Order: sequence, then structure tokens, then C-alpha cells
Amino acid sequence: MANLPRILVTNDDGYTSEGIQVLADALEDLGEDWVVAPNREQSAVSHALTLDRPLRIERLGERRVAVDGTPTDCVALGISNLMANRLPDLVVSGINFGFNMGADVHYSGTVSAAFEGVILGVPAMAISLGVGEGLSFHLAASFAHDLAQWILENGLARDTLLNVNVPVGTPLGVRLTRLGVRRYTEGVIEEQDPRGRQIFWIGGGQPVWEAIPGTDFHEAASGFVSVTPLHLDMTDRKSLQSLRETSPSWADTLSGTEE
Ligand code: MN
Repeated sequence: MANLPRILVTNDDGYTSEGIQVLADALEDLGEDWVVAPNREQSAVSHALTLDRPLRIERLGERRVAVDGTPTDCVALGISNLMANRLPDLVVSGINFGFNMGADVHYSGTVSAAFEGVILGVPAMAISLGVGEGLSFHLAASFAHDLAQWILENGLARDTLLNVNVPVGTPLGVRLTRLGVRRYTEGVIEEQDPRGRQIFWIGGGQPVWEAIPGTDFHEAASGFVSVTPLHLDMTDRKSLQSLRETSPSWADTLSGTEE
């Protein structure tokens, strides 16, 4: 048993969500799977860490733990404490209820949990399912199983994770993609509460995405599973290069030949 791969499963929809239950079941035959997940919905909390209070956990079974914290808390706690006697070989985050594509990856607790794995030196993938008629987590879970097995066998490049989006229905195939662009038409909706005071709801409008082939939005909307490799280092090397070449007045002149 000692050499079976160890998989840490988490999410941002919360421990009781169907997506993580189906995912954990699907990954079970790959090795020793642990579920360490938030005890309630934590969608769109991004990469938040809880620093202003202690974390409490509830043990729901052998290798099953609910945490009163964020997805990032769960991965940090899992790796540095609960599973500290042996690092996990893989972090899998999901299956999220709803796509995480384009700029979503910056807001998503699902994707951030996978990045936390990467930061702590463990290969990771995030997986999300589109919302629509005929929604079923089982096909996505089956793909997660096969991809997890592939990552366990082949590894991933350092500081990289795979962000997977699975369309509703039977996928036509799998496409390797880059992040696309989505625009929110009404980012904040203003209303009045029953007492006549101004209130605001974030994220009320229908988003529209740009139909660019090769992007996650386009390929998932065309019925394909989208797999986007994401890198932890967000440095824009082209801009770095061009800023260095133009030597703006606010920057020191570059000396040496740092990469
Ligand atoms: Mn979510």
C-alpha cells in the first residue's frame, strides 16, 4: 500500500457538492485518495488564505476532512499537516459546477487550490463542468480519472497545472487550448432594498466570450473538452523585454545580464 500514489482532492463548491463526491469516487482506484475540502461553498474566493483565525476541521471518515476555510487553506493543511508523512503525488480540484475559463482563473477557488498544490511542489489539475441541460458529473469524472493517471505516469512541467473544462453532454474530443477572453456585460447591478436603500449585486449580467479558435471558450462551446496548461509565473516576458529596451525614466538602467 505504501507505494500507491497519493491524491489530494479538493474544490471550492464545498465538501458536500456532487462534483467532488463523484470525482473522489472516480479517482479511488488510482491510489490513496484524500478529500480535504471546504465545509461550505467558497466559489470565487480566489487564492485567499485564512490568517485571522484558527482553522477547525471535521473528520468525516478515514482520509475525509471538511475544513472551515478556503480551498487554498485545504490544500495547505492537507499537504503540510494531514498528509505530512508523505507528500501527495497529485492535487485534483473540482469538479466545479460551472466553467472556469479565461479571466475566471483569477477569481476561481477551484483553480487557485490547484495552484496552491503547484506552489507547494505537487503537480495539479483543476476540472470544471459546464452548466446546462443533461448535466452529469460522471463523464467529467471519467476524464479526470484518465488525465490524473496520465499525470501520475508522466508528470507535469514545473510550476504548471492543467485547467480542464468539460462541456455538458458527450464531448466530441479533447482540445489543447489557451485562455480566451470573456466580457461581462453588466458587472454590477444596482437595486434598492425594501427600505429604499441602494444595494449592489456583483456578476449579474450575461457574459459574452470572443469566438477565437484555440481558446478554452471556443473549444468548450464547440463541444470539446478544453485542457489549458497554466503557469504560476505570470511575468509578461514580452513587456519586460520591451520596457527594458525603452528604458523608462522611472526604472534604473539595467546592468548585468539577468534572464
Ligand atoms: Mn465553484
